[in-house]
Amino acid sequence: MADELASDTNPSLSSSALARRGLLFVLSSPSGAGKSTLARMLLEDDEKIEMSVSVTTREQRPGEEHGKDYFFVSDDEFEEMVADNSFLEYATVFGNRYATPAGPVQEMLEEGRDVLFDIDWQGTQQLYQRAGQDVVRIFILPPSLGELRERLESRNTDSSEIIDGRMQRAADEISHWDGYDYVLINDDLNLCFAKVKQILTTERMRRARQTGLIGFVRDLMDE
Ligand code: ADP
Ligand code: 5GP
Repeated sequence: MADELASDTNPSLSSSALARRGLLFVLSSPSGAGKSTLARMLLEDDEKIEMSVSVTTREQRPGEEHGKDYFFVSDDEFEEMVADNSFLEYATVFGNRYATPAGPVQEMLEEGRDVLFDIDWQGTQQLYQRAGQDVVRIFILPPSLGELRERLESRNTDSSEIIDGRMQRAADEISHWDGYDYVLINDDLNLCFAKVKQILTTERMRRARQTGLIGFVRDLMDE
């Protein structure tokens, strides 16, 4: 497993290296609010952004693909990767362990692409501690808790016990809304998606991220 995710590049994200690379775009929400749906739409819409595929110890759901949705690993394999310092962040969510492998993120950034993360608030905090100004954090809220439950039920992926557990965790997750740069209410999906795109477009235009500007302005002055 560790080989599958190995990279020739150094996994540490030094701020000097990140300053000339893409941004780390994080979507978090209580389960069922719609972050996977929004992430899918963004990936289809924008070829400059790519998904970070997480490692997890949770069971594979029907329809999920190893290497596409997650890298499914055992507890021992997960522990080994923690010991090898292979992760940018890791956390326990719903009793299962989840982590972002560092190698692929590093490669995407070096190839000039932005990276999209579907991770929880604990992972977002760790990513922010490591990569600071290159992280853009969006929290997605459902319009109501009733609607959240309906979405979890309509998704048809979890038993009613699991849905009860996710609903119990929702309040805890929502309590971390103020650790994010943007908070969006996902009522109308297309409207919410338009806002996500707007944020991405604007964040890409920040002066500090447009590293080519220095040369451009120098040439402009030399004309
Ligand atoms: P999450 O990734 O946050 O757990 P999902 O993206 O899987 O949530 O969405 C949960 C369910 O709600 C899915 O069936 C999805 O199609 C649906 N959904 C997402 N956004 C909306 C929306 N704005 N209105 C109605 N249903 C939605
Ligand atoms: P699910 O098991 O439903 O796919 O995801 C459960 C939760 O784990 C979601 O809130 C999701 O954002 C979070 N998650 C998925 N991958 C990671 C990861 O790599 N790191 C962290 N910290 N959370 C993750």
